[in-house]
Amino acid sequence: MSYIFTPARITSIPIHGVDARFPVHRVFCVGQNYSLHAQEMGASGREDPFFFMKPASSVVPVTAGTVSTVPYPGDTQSLHHEVELVVAIGQRGANIGPEQAMDFVYGYAVGIDLTRRDLQSVLKSQGRPWEIAKGFEASAPVGSISPKTRTGQLAQGNICLAVDGIMRQTGNLDQMIWSVEGIIHHLSRHWTLTPGDLVFTGTPAGVGAVARGNHLLATIDGLDALQIQLV
Ligand code: MN
Repeated sequence: MSYIFTPARITSIPIHGVDARFPVHRVFCVGQNYSLHAQEMGASGREDPFFFMKPASSVVPVTAGTVSTVPYPGDTQSLHHEVELVVAIGQRGANIGPEQAMDFVYGYAVGIDLTRRDLQSVLKSQGRPWEIAKGFEASAPVGSISPKTRTGQLAQGNICLAVDGIMRQTGNLDQMIWSVEGIIHHLSRHWTLTPGDLVFTGTPAGVGAVARGNHLLATIDGLDALQIQLV
């Protein structure tokens, strides 16, 4: 069997302490999983979180200790940062109970869900899908994955983002409305989770706009920091 053209390259992410990379299959994202962020987005903070997706090709893998450049996208005057815990799925499964969910986690990384907020506001008001605001090229920088065997279960810990050295977002993983187990439980009712899937688990309060030239440092206790510069 041959293809009529060379297939698109598989996006892959470095793994801390492992001499092989994590090939990305799909990118699921949880919306409004921290109530203070839900409130800053105009929601009550009491509704259930929800899912959306980004293409695997939108992931920018960032090696620990390096700063990757990310192009400031077109069509926006309001590119926002959202620091998030990213869960890397290592096992296939559907209808996963919360008590089994951790078995499906390969590891964790720090990610930034870059968002064209001005376009998202328009799409929201029109009741339309969010792809233009969320799924653009290079919209999902992800740092090195730390295997769960190294970190243990991450149920709490500081999650922060600084822009040019000034802290913008601070929160704790224990403030998630849906825990990682709860997310895997909900997600696996709608999709069969597959090794290579990534799940962005939502952002704490403090999101805001960034500009060309800004340096973003995203950190979660116990994981490799993620650094990008917008160009
Ligand atoms: Mn997000």
